[in-house]
Amino acid sequence: MKRKFLKTLLAIAVTGALGATSLVQAQNKGPIAISMPTKSSARWIADGANMVKYFQEKGYKTDLQYADDDIPNQLAQIENMVTKGAKVLVIAAIDGTTLSDVLQKAADKGVKVIAYDRLIKGSKNVDYYATFDNFQVGVLQASYIEKALDLKAGKGPYNIELFGGSPDDNNAFFFYNGAMSVLKPYIDSGKLVVRSKQLGMDKVSTLRWDGAVAQARMDNLLSAYYTKDKVDAVLSPYDGLSIGIISSLKGVGYGTPKLPMPVVTGQDAEVQSIKSILKKEQTSTVFKDTRELAKVTVAMADAMLAGKPPEVNDTKTYNNGVKVVPSYLLKPVSVDITNWKQTLVDSGYYKESQLK
Ligand code: BGC
Repeated sequence: MKRKFLKTLLAIAVTGALGATSLVQAQNKGPIAISMPTKSSARWIADGANMVKYFQEKGYKTDLQYADDDIPNQLAQIENMVTKGAKVLVIAAIDGTTLSDVLQKAADKGVKVIAYDRLIKGSKNVDYYATFDNFQVGVLQASYIEKALDLKAGKGPYNIELFGGSPDDNNAFFFYNGAMSVLKPYIDSGKLVVRSKQLGMDKVSTLRWDGAVAQARMDNLLSAYYTKDKVDAVLSPYDGLSIGIISSLKGVGYGTPKLPMPVVTGQDAEVQSIKSILKKEQTSTVFKDTRELAKVTVAMADAMLAGKPPEVNDTKTYNNGVKVVPSYLLKPVSVDITNWKQTLVDSGYYKESQLK
């Protein structure tokens, strides 16, 4: 009996030791360098953490760095990653046009490059692009406004103001164009009125996706165009901007029975915005499951390093000025007060307690 017990103990110890060894051995692949733009938005923190987790599960060492939304900082970090011997670079660029030189250095050393979420422009040295259907993100945001204002039924005219993302981020143009593909007919027919007449990314963009910049612009719009009229909808491409826009609206009295909140869209399903949706301030957001994006990216890197072609599902959309970058596009999902629980909690993305 005692012997049997000892044997079992021994077996457990050996398995444990083997497990540990295989883990150590397994962690020898790579390294994979992951360059993220900023920690100021929760989504990028989740993106980084998810990738580290999934790469490590496949036995890769990882080097994850955040660049504080500072372009020279990101360049220096990537250069350093290449020097340290990265096998694959996964990059979510701050400014997608600034990386050509460092990517040439990477290519000269045989380093593979995956553009993560945001396209890297002007370089032939981008192997693959993992992202969401960015045009569709804009379509979802605008369709939400279309439905909330019942525009299809001919309702209106309603007042709307438009916000765009950062002009150095290729995605911002896809979001805006996707949204305008839905909104423009209503603007043309007069059912939607942009009182400020500020249309086009050259007028509505928000450098570095900065919520404070959006808030200041909303303050100006409200005081210049909405002292007598009310605004009925605000197209916002990102939750961080929506929060700024909503503070501005509240500052002049919106969010009361006399002056209800306009429809305000968003993106990323950040905790603060889900809380805002539950308070009936922000109206909707677009959820992009960063776990899925991380998985696609890990599979791409893994395939490339094994000398196999990664799976892609789009080889037409993302021309970076030098070449069309083969891409894998994931599906974004619209979220509001009716489906937040099933989309975000039941899927395990958030715990319900985080959102209350
Ligand atoms: C991402 C969005 C994000 C925005 C601001 C974009 O490139 O695709 O998900 O809201 O950057 O961080």
